[in-house]
Amino acid sequence: MSLPNEVATPGFRQMLEGLQIALFAIDEAHCVSQWGHDFRPEYRDLAKLTELFPGVPRIALTATADPVTRADIIERLGLGDARVFETSFDRPNISYEIIERDNARQQLLRFLERHKGDSGIIYCLSRAKVEDIADWLDRQGIRALPYHAGMDATVRSANQDAFLREENLCLVATVAFGMGIDKPDVRYVAHMDLPASIEAYYQETGRAGRDGQPADAWMNYGMADVVQRRRMIEEGNAPEEIKRVEHAKLTALLGVCETTQCRRKAILAHFGEVYPTNCGNCDTCRSPVASWDGTEAAIKALACAYRTGQRFGAAHLIEVLMGKPTEKVTRFGHDQQAVFGAGKDLNARSWQSVYRQLAALGLLQVDHTAHGALKLGEGARAVFKREQTVILRKDRPRKAAEVRRQLAGAIELPESVMSIFNALRAERLRIARQQGVPPYVVFQDVTLRALAQSRPETPEDMLSIPGIGQAKLERYGDAFLAILAAQPASV
Ligand SMILES: [Zn+2]
Repeated sequence: MSLPNEVATPGFRQMLEGLQIALFAIDEAHCVSQWGHDFRPEYRDLAKLTELFPGVPRIALTATADPVTRADIIERLGLGDARVFETSFDRPNISYEIIERDNARQQLLRFLERHKGDSGIIYCLSRAKVEDIADWLDRQGIRALPYHAGMDATVRSANQDAFLREENLCLVATVAFGMGIDKPDVRYVAHMDLPASIEAYYQETGRAGRDGQPADAWMNYGMADVVQRRRMIEEGNAPEEIKRVEHAKLTALLGVCETTQCRRKAILAHFGEVYPTNCGNCDTCRSPVASWDGTEAAIKALACAYRTGQRFGAAHLIEVLMGKPTEKVTRFGHDQQAVFGAGKDLNARSWQSVYRQLAALGLLQVDHTAHGALKLGEGARAVFKREQTVILRKDRPRKAAEVRRQLAGAIELPESVMSIFNALRAERLRIARQQGVPPYVVFQDVTLRALAQSRPETPEDMLSIPGIGQAKLERYGDAFLAILAAQPASV
């Protein structure tokens, strides 16, 4: 249903009345609910379909709705006793990883090393950042194209076409990209900024690995994201009640970012699903995160915000805690405060982690009318009075991050098989270009993997490979057999 807000306009209604309508399908139905992550009030007019077209069946579809949103959709659209069909939200082939930001560009480069030759999407929040990152990647020798709504339409659609047709291309985009895109072999989705909600994160990462093959959902995230997202909500035009929902959705996503448990479990729990075990395919499963009792640290961090008048951001507060007599610290007389130098037991990186998590937990609020100053949140009092303990996630030391990357690499093909896979992939690209079709139309990655692993020698052997039937065998069999025959004999 692409014209929802025009249901009630006389012309459109007249047109509908002149038709024999078999069924109304209301797609992206979460937009109908104020609990959904993309609420459009005018979509509520779709409820009028019941009165206007009694007897015509209606179906509402969505891929991202938590239990509250689902119930609200049914109510808003007047679907009453309608049957509900649910499938699991789990995408087992997608591996989740969320890392603390620490030189985001270098972190991105290291992540992309795992994806040489693959296609993927990198999401950024702003158009300027999209241009910037695409340009920078290009200069690092990684083929990247930008995509955002502010670009010249011709260039934008050319970039989209290139992404759909080619391999080894990184599309750097705002969330304007992705709706209706169904490229099966997107091997990774990387977030350089925090999405707005778990639903948005799920929808955006869900563009990876539609062919069922292993794919990575990777995000780097830091304190600045919390500040920026909270500001965007506050500066938005939404009514207060919607802003409250948006804040709550953001807090839920921050919970996933800061969890010490399985990420998949946390994501699925949000959609009302209980995942029975740890998934083994997310960063916290592969390399468990330690937690620590951060109550004393939290008290110091909160006291520092309070004693300095709740007018400063984390960077300044950390300098005060660490006892750094910077110009700003002395100018405000913060070197005279009892909190000055009270946090020398931890390093600056640990304090960043403490402040980030306190903001994620809501114990500190970001004040947008005062340039992101940190103010005490509701629960802060209870922490001061030691009525509430604060359990924090221990950020990974850099060495552990290295080990984790190696672990993640272990699910890849062995190197000898990988070189055959790459040769097959080059041949696939050559044929695809020649025929003007996307590479996956020739063979999907799953087929190339199987070819590389089992190395068939005859056309008959090839037929046992998934994705190769008689027609594809005739069309491409000889070309790929020739590539396989040309590979070194022993593996
Ligand atoms: Zn897991």
